[in-house]
Amino acid sequence: MANIVPGPSDALIVVDVQRDFLPGGALGVAHGDEVVAPLNAAMGAFERAGRPVFASRDWHTPDHCSFKARGGPWPPHCVANTPGARFAEGLQLPPSAIVVSKAESADADSYSAFGGTDLALQLERKGVKRVFVGGLATDYCVLNTVLDALTAGFEVVVLGDAVRAVEVSPGDGARAIAKMEQAGARLQAS
Ligand SMILES: [Zn+2]
Repeated sequence: MANIVPGPSDALIVVDVQRDFLPGGALGVAHGDEVVAPLNAAMGAFERAGRPVFASRDWHTPDHCSFKARGGPWPPHCVANTPGARFAEGLQLPPSAIVVSKAESADADSYSAFGGTDLALQLERKGVKRVFVGGLATDYCVLNTVLDALTAGFEVVVLGDAVRAVEVSPGDGARAIAKMEQAGARLQAS
């Protein structure tokens, strides 16, 4: 059960909970599947409160600049309209969820759900002042989404039990959490 009681100026941002980022996926995050249950509970709480749920997704071209073939750091992942780009099986997005696709053009990458999207504008239009953030991965897309949200002036709560890290270097996840807290985000269990 979710502990969150969303207020009238709250929104939830579910970051990149896509099949390629789950164990067994093209860029699988260890224990990435464990974010699904707490996020389902959180999404239910926001849905019941009539508050918006945003779900970001990597939505790349087959020749995306972040892929190794083009000199990027990652194996091919989340190519638009492929099974790996789909949201995780079992992720219960409410019908009203707003999907935010990012890094759609071949030559631009964005870890942040705010990068090159109209997410900030959509949040402002819905009167959002505080965002709750969970998803994948702590040390990349969650980190950058949270930092951009803070820069854009939103209050940010990171759902500590609903994020998991890639950990290219051991400790990256903990360092990302520390960085988010130093920047002003609050850490809370869902
Ligand atoms: Zn990507």
